[in-house]
Amino acid sequence: MSNGVSPSLPIVIAGAGIGGLTAALALRRKGHEVLLLERAEEVSEVGAGLQLSPNACHVLNQLGVLDALEPHAFAPENLRISSGKTGTQLARVPLGDFVRKRHGSPFWVIHRADLQQVLLQLVRETSGITVQLASEVHSLESSPYDHLLCKYEASGSPERLECSALIGADGVWSKTRKLIPGHENARFSGQVAYRATIPIDQVPERWHGDSGLWLHKNAHLVHYQVRGGNELNVVVLVAEPWEDETWSARADKETLKHALKDWPTEILNLISIPDQWLKWALCSVDATGPWTHGHVALMGDAAHAMLPYMAQGAAMAIEDAAILAKHLPASAENIPASLRSFERQRKSRVAHIQAIARKNAQVFHFSGIPAIIRDTVLRYSKPEALTARFDDIYGWRSQQ
Ligand SMILES: Cc1cc2nc3c(=O)[nH]c(=O)nc-3n(C[C@H](O)[C@H](O)[C@H](O)COP(=O)(O)OP(=O)(O)OC[C@H]3O[C@@H](n4cnc5c(N)ncnc54)[C@H](O)[C@@H]3O)c2cc1C
Repeated sequence: MSNGVSPSLPIVIAGAGIGGLTAALALRRKGHEVLLLERAEEVSEVGAGLQLSPNACHVLNQLGVLDALEPHAFAPENLRISSGKTGTQLARVPLGDFVRKRHGSPFWVIHRADLQQVLLQLVRETSGITVQLASEVHSLESSPYDHLLCKYEASGSPERLECSALIGADGVWSKTRKLIPGHENARFSGQVAYRATIPIDQVPERWHGDSGLWLHKNAHLVHYQVRGGNELNVVVLVAEPWEDETWSARADKETLKHALKDWPTEILNLISIPDQWLKWALCSVDATGPWTHGHVALMGDAAHAMLPYMAQGAAMAIEDAAILAKHLPASAENIPASLRSFERQRKSRVAHIQAIARKNAQVFHFSGIPAIIRDTVLRYSKPEALTARFDDIYGWRSQQ
């Protein structure tokens, strides 16, 4: 116990996204009562594809989520890397069976909404976790009796609740982050992601099966199957200013086609298929900034939103959930110290992966001589060696 706060009070988690839902399951397993407050009025069909590498699947397996997820997931056998300039294949990175044998967990791709729905269903079936929608967390304050009060707005009415800790899993635009002295705001990266999903029967066979990564100056394209293989998720990342008032918006297909005008015809044909494209401003939060203060801790995008160039944003939120629960069992007597241990264990790994993603943001969009060197290295690399480069990311285990 510390600060007159009883660990037997519920833990409040702000945000029922991927990180918050996983943390609710993990903390409940450690004996906590959990109140999960989600700002949205309903958990709807938003988002598109997410990659779940073996490090994330390992945590989801430990929490009993993997079986329920399997029908919605797709396991690509390979990632094929191609030149967006010439259309030729540069490299094959084995995933599928190769990764499962190497790391003991699958490499899956999935629609964000499917992952969120499966987690939400399990959370709702777990006694000791309460989910409240239309509830936006504002602050955490001490009462005159030294009790911790989480203040939030539920369907427009102000509410307060005594709790033992507040976990900010409220994403890149986190309000909880403002409760941490010295925090920095999320920053727009100058890059925009155009996203669409296409029913797989509308897509030529050539795009079925393996995932793809296409590299060209100032842009790259990623595609993989989601919804149990029934849809193709296509994402194009381009350098572009952001002028909309919101951080996601409908996109103009012609603008995208113009940005990719010197790409191979098969790519231009692919991006012509969907009627509707959405775009999304890519923002990041410096992982080396503070994540905890007293009884408040940040996790997931709230602590360390990263560019999607290592496809580890969701995986890091899922890993955070496991390590937070490891340091914060219901028997924890000093909650601020437990939260600080969580931050200490996570920070260097997350900052390292965030730095790789930043570096990839340059390498993927090289032009001229650097692009020729990059493509030559990829061409002459052994496929297995390319996968092995990610061993320290994919081979991570929560017991470490
Ligand atoms: C709508 C949406 C769509 C996305 N689509 C994709 C995608 O297609 N591909 C991809 O790779 N990544 C996507 N992401 C990001 C990806 O989900 C995250 O990078 C990753 O899963 C980390 O998750 P997180 O739990 O930290 O944050 P998030 O998944 O962003 O979840 C944060 C949650 O907190 C809620 N929230 C915000 N403020 C408050 C508050 N004050 N009180 C209570 N609740 C609050 C939000 O409504 C949201 O549900 C999306 C995120 C969102 C919110």
